[in-house]
Amino acid sequence: MAHEDCIFCKIIDGELPSAKVYEDEAVYAFLDISQVTKGHTLVIPKTHTKNIYETPPEVASKLFERIPTIANAIKKAYQPAGMNLLNNNEKLADQSVFHLHIHLLPRYGEDDGFSFNWQVHTDDYSQDDLQQIAKEINEAF
Ligand code: AMP
Ligand code: ZN
Repeated sequence: MAHEDCIFCKIIDGELPSAKVYEDEAVYAFLDISQVTKGHTLVIPKTHTKNIYETPPEVASKLFERIPTIANAIKKAYQPAGMNLLNNNEKLADQSVFHLHIHLLPRYGEDDGFSFNWQVHTDDYSQDDLQQIAKEINEAF
């Protein structure tokens, strides 16, 4: 069901314009207005869900099932050298629209507009540290 004041629900309903890439009964895909790289696409479930935490398995399943097909269409259209998938959850993690979306970012080169900035801490964690972290997450299921 459409969520009041959600711009992505309004896009699905046609109340706001979008450049549609793909649509079926469960999923809608359209160009991100920011076009970080050419072909930058957002894939969203038609069921409003705030972010990954609130997404029921059946909604996630249909969403992710479609993504390889959409990625391959972008690949066929523009022959990018690579593609990043990105999903931001909560404000700190740069979520700005609170309707679950997966970014498909075709990559054309190192200076194409998208880059990662993350720190690698491989040397800071022993195998025991990793086992302890995994145990804590296991216990949270
Ligand atoms: P995020 O920061 O992960 O929540 O991403 C939200 C994305 O939605 C941003 O990349 C925006 O450029 C994009 N966006 C916001 N409004 C629209 C819109 N009306 N049509 C297409 N993309 C939008
Ligand atoms: Zn919505």
